[in-house]
Order: sequence, then structure tokens, then C-alpha cells
Amino acid sequence: MKLRCWVCCLVSGAIALVLLAMMAGSSSAADKIDVLIVDGQNNHDFERTTPYLKKILEETGRFRAFVVTTPPPGATDPGAWKGFRPQFSDYDVVLSNYNGETWPEHARTAFEEFVQNGGGVLNVHAANNPFGDWPVWNDMIGLAWRDKGFGDRITFDAAGKQVRTLKGEGPDSSHGAQHPYAVITRDREHPITKGMPAEWMHPTDELYHGQRGPAKNMHILATAYSSKESGGTGENEPMVWWIPSGKGRVVTTLLGHVGRDQDPSTWSMRCAGFHAIVTRGTEWAATGEVTIPLPKDMPTAQQVSLLP
Ligand code: ZN
Repeated sequence: MKLRCWVCCLVSGAIALVLLAMMAGSSSAADKIDVLIVDGQNNHDFERTTPYLKKILEETGRFRAFVVTTPPPGATDPGAWKGFRPQFSDYDVVLSNYNGETWPEHARTAFEEFVQNGGGVLNVHAANNPFGDWPVWNDMIGLAWRDKGFGDRITFDAAGKQVRTLKGEGPDSSHGAQHPYAVITRDREHPITKGMPAEWMHPTDELYHGQRGPAKNMHILATAYSSKESGGTGENEPMVWWIPSGKGRVVTTLLGHVGRDQDPSTWSMRCAGFHAIVTRGTEWAATGEVTIPLPKDMPTAQQVSLLP
């Protein structure tokens, strides 16, 4: 009897342990945020940056990242775009690494419904370039790479006050020569930027200026000074912002240029500040909260900080 009891105890104990482990496993998977990275067309090196973005998200332990790739540019097979039917609603947040041809109606509608129902979006760099013919998208992102006739423009004056330049006035969207520049954190209370230095050096990158759009409900988190010496505007241009859209949140970062065949050691995406914006921005777009800490070695006002 005694022996049988021992065996019973061992077996039931082992079963309980296995069950507990399974429960722990399933709850941690359920806690993860599911991100869908969209790529497929871009004048930047999406073939190498999508895996990099996927890696920096997953390294936080907070995300499961998936990728959907559109047809290539100029696809002549009429079935190619018909088959592009991402189930956005299966994910918490979409990260766009896409800059290319406009999407067919069915994909636009699915995306609009996703955001309307609370889905998050994070746009990286040239992801604000496409879809000039899609009004809902332009409302969602606020400022896009467009000619000055497309919409208004926002800058910050020397006192830190927002200035609106009306459609038709001022520069078209463009950028000067690439160079390292200081990013100014304009909102140090927002969960994405909380704890970031007021000013931090970003390595050599493009500095977009004259971005245009409806620019409604803009919450600008960071700017950068576009110097005339570098071919810029002599003004403080928005770099990171978010806009509420339906129940969703749409975050855009203009940082993160990576050219085709660019040596990875020189990628602006290696900036610890960029990592923070992408990981915390994606988490916040998905949940409205940020639990991911800032990198230990954030850049300072004097010094860039590059991650592997
Ligand atoms: Zn670029």
C-alpha cells in the first residue's frame, strides 16, 4: 500500500507540474503582442530591414512578429493583388515597412476597419510616402511625403510653439544631405518617450522636411532641426508623432533610412533611440501602455549610441 501511494503521489505530482508548465506557457504566449510587418515594395532595403525590425521587436520578449509581403512593383498578373488579403484583425498592430504602389480596395477597407476597431499602426521612415490617393490613410498619418499643394505643414518655432504653414506655402517634401543630428524630445510625459533625454544624437540619417497632409489631431513627440547648411529648411521638423484614428492609434517615425546595399555598420536603425521608438511605439500603438524599458545606453546630447 505504502509503495502504491508513493507512486500515486509521484505520478499525480508530475501531471500537476506538466499542467502548470503548460498553463504558464500558454499565458505567456497570450500576453505577447502580435505584430504584422507589411513590406514588399520600397525604395529602401526592406529585404534586410524587415528581418532587422522583426528581430529588435522579438528581442524585447514582448512581441510575436509576422511578415506579409505584397506583390512586387509592376505585377502584371491580375491575380497577384487579388491574393493580397492580410487578416489584419488577427493582429494587435501593423508595422509598415512599405513604400510602393497603392493597395486594392479590399486591402484598404480591411486596414481601415482594423484601425477603426482599435488596431495599432507604426510607420517606419518612407512608409509615409505612398497612398497619396487614399484620403483615410492620409488622415491617419497626418503628414506625408507630398508636394506643398497637398496639405499643410507643421514646424516648431524657437520657443517650442507649433506653427502651421498652409497648403501651397513653403517647401515641398524633401530632405537635405544625410548627416548625424540631434532629436529633440517634445513630449517627455508620453509613454513612448517618457524618460528619454530632452535631446539625443541620432547617427547619419535622412532628415525629412516639408511633410504635408491634413495634419489634424497631431501629437508630436519629437522633432529635429533641419539646418540650411545640410540643404534643409532652417526649421524644427516633426520626426515622431501619433494620431488617434477611430479606436486605433497611428504612430509615425521618420527616422530610419536604410539605402539599398548600405553597409549595415552605418544603418541609422542601429540608433538606440530608434530601437526605443520602434519597440515602445509598437507596444503603445497596440495596447496604449509601455512596459518595455529604454535601452540602457540611450544616446546623449553629445553622443550617438549604436546597438548591434
Ligand atoms: Zn530614406
